[in-house]
Parts: sequence; C-alpha cells; structure tokens
Amino acid sequence: MTTISHTVQGTSTQDGAGVKLKRVIGQPLLPRLDPFLMLDEFGSDLAQDYIAGFPPHPHRGFQTVTYMLQGKMGHKDSVGNSGLIEDGGLQWMNAGRGIIHEEMPQQTLGVLRGFQLWVNLPAKDKMSEPNYQDIPSSKIPEVHLEHGKVRVLAGVFNDIKGAVNTTAVNPNFWDIHLTEKQKFLADTNKEHNGFIYVYEGAIKIANQTMNRGVCAVLALSDAVEVITEAKAKFIFVSGMPIKEPIVQYGPFVMNTENEIHQAIADYQNGQLT
Ligand code: MN
Repeated sequence: MTTISHTVQGTSTQDGAGVKLKRVIGQPLLPRLDPFLMLDEFGSDLAQDYIAGFPPHPHRGFQTVTYMLQGKMGHKDSVGNSGLIEDGGLQWMNAGRGIIHEEMPQQTLGVLRGFQLWVNLPAKDKMSEPNYQDIPSSKIPEVHLEHGKVRVLAGVFNDIKGAVNTTAVNPNFWDIHLTEKQKFLADTNKEHNGFIYVYEGAIKIANQTMNRGVCAVLALSDAVEVITEAKAKFIFVSGMPIKEPIVQYGPFVMNTENEIHQAIADYQNGQLT
C-alpha cells in the first residue's frame, strides 16, 4: 500500500504582475518531482491579490495546466487561441517549441481559486507544435463514490479516462471530493512519481494525518488508500518520470544550457511563436 515519503507545505510568493499564491512544487523544499516542475495554488477573495494577472509571457519546453476551482481566467496566446476558463474548468496547454500568452482573471469581485501545474516534456517533444485544450467543467468525467466524487481531469481513474488527451506525458490528475467519513481506494502505478495536496479539510494516508495546505509526496505502490473522518477535498497527481537532465530559466525548461540560450535568443528575436 502506498505510503507517504515526505510532506511539504506551500510557500507564499508572488508571480505574474503580483498575483499572490502558494508555491508547492518549485520551491526549496520540493524543487521538482519528475515529471512535474511546478505546482501553484492560488486563492483569494480580495481582487487586489490577483486582478493584475499574468500579462503576456513566453513558455518553451513543457506543458501548463490551469484548473479553476472557482472564478474565471481569460487566456489569449500567440498561436491565435483565446478562451475563458470558468469555475471547475481546465486548460491544458502544450507550450512545445514556444508560445506567448496572457492569463488574466476576468472578475473584479469574488473569489479566484485554483491550481497551475507544470508538466515537463521529454526531449523529443520539447520542440513540438504548441497547442491548447480548453475543457469546460461539464466535459470533465466524474465518478461518484458512496460519499463524494472524483473528477478525472487527466489520466485514468479506475478505468475511467480523463478529459485531457496528452500524448507526451500522460499523467493522472484527479480532483477528489469526499463529503463525509469515507475510505477512498484507487489503483495507482508504482512506476510513477506522485503526490496528494489537501485543499479542504484533512485526510489520512497510512495513519498519517494531513491537513489543508499539506502536500504529501508518495511512495507509490499499486494502490492508494485515503481515509477521511469528515468532508475533505484533495488532488492526486502522478506521472512517469522522464529522467532527463533539466535546465530551467524561468519559463523555459530545456535539457541543455545551449537550448536555453537558443530559447532566449528566439524570444528576443520574435521567433518564439
Ligand atoms: Mn503562463
């Protein structure tokens, strides 16, 4: 049975044009968890904490996944896509060889809450064509449990396929809502690296209690068991490690220094798109 390898809490930081967030992966205590490069949780009911958003910025060499728990985030990119991720919706963007985009909250009142996950690409896919999948909440498969449900954002949960089609790295990304005392059991892949992040209530894995805001890096086996005493919500994310060298410079994640210099030059020369 899956156990906890170690736990970390997100650190408070700011990104974009001053959006306040908690960085869970991509911080000193958990710099990466191959194939995952970053996990941010954002959440505030104060517009000044988020309204300036993320004005145009580039990416190359990986994928960004934005999952809105509450609130709306507008998106516009250099490939010609534009859209609005609404409450419960998901955007999966393959930056591939390069994209410039903006991510702007589209509300001035109310709560903005969600996650952004960065999934690395293997060398063979780093220069792939950029693309973008916008998945409204209604298109996300939900599996009902005795007391709660699992929203299958990506990957496979107990034979139910997720909403996202991503061929390069095909991680599991499930959002699990338990409404009362419940034992949650799921098949997992012991070859994956994976984690659970609790965003409401508290859960127990292998007799260890995890409260809201705690990320447990898992020692995965064939199955994971989570026990709750009351209402709780958490995400489970896992993926096959890529096991290649990583050189990162801000929004560019490549395998070598030279490829990073090339990415910066391409961006400066307007050739990233
Ligand atoms: Mn971005």
